[in-house]
Amino acid sequence: MLSKKSKHDLLNNLSLQVLDCVNCELSQSRTCAVPGMGSSDSPVMFIGEAPGYHEDISGFPFVGSAGKLLTDLLNEISMSRDSVYITNIVKCRPPENRNPYLSEIKQCESYLSRQISMIDPLLIVPLGKFAMNYFIPGELITSVSGTIQEINDRHVYPLLHPAAALRKTEYKNRLKEDFLKIPSILDKLTSRQYLTDSNPLFCSELS
Ligand code: SF4
Repeated sequence: MLSKKSKHDLLNNLSLQVLDCVNCELSQSRTCAVPGMGSSDSPVMFIGEAPGYHEDISGFPFVGSAGKLLTDLLNEISMSRDSVYITNIVKCRPPENRNPYLSEIKQCESYLSRQISMIDPLLIVPLGKFAMNYFIPGELITSVSGTIQEINDRHVYPLLHPAAALRKTEYKNRLKEDFLKIPSILDKLTSRQYLTDSNPLFCSELS
């Protein structure tokens, strides 16, 4: 297992690679690449679609009005942006905020998969349809948001995108309700991991 410092250094190194990346055409239209931010030791990773206008200018993920809602929701569960890790599927802004092309996602995906490996979070929270479909292709976000899915030995908890929540009160209420469950989900996963590490014989009792 990597030490906290090793994880931090590896993640910083990867962020520097993202900042210099020219692997796809998005590098030509971006202002700043947006690698991600937060704790390399976080138990939870929030993953959006791609940087938007404000993120492209600042170099930080989720900093517009949707980012403010995400920050507020984190504060409601006694977390901060620094205590979790926040990133996107694609690290550079697509022009006019169009959806990223499949080719761009494929060019970029090694960064995300390495971030997930390094941080090794207990819970992955894709925000919105696009990020959810990266983990669960073909599903509707309104069908699976707020449900825990086990995918490739990872626990994935898709939620509605904060930008969608800002457009519709019903979505905002649903996002908040699902978001407030994150601490209890983490508690459950932590105790499950503890039991798995300490006594595998008891694991079946949890399922
Ligand atoms: S989107 Fe990803 S692959 Fe494309 S230039 Fe940016 S960091 Fe590189």
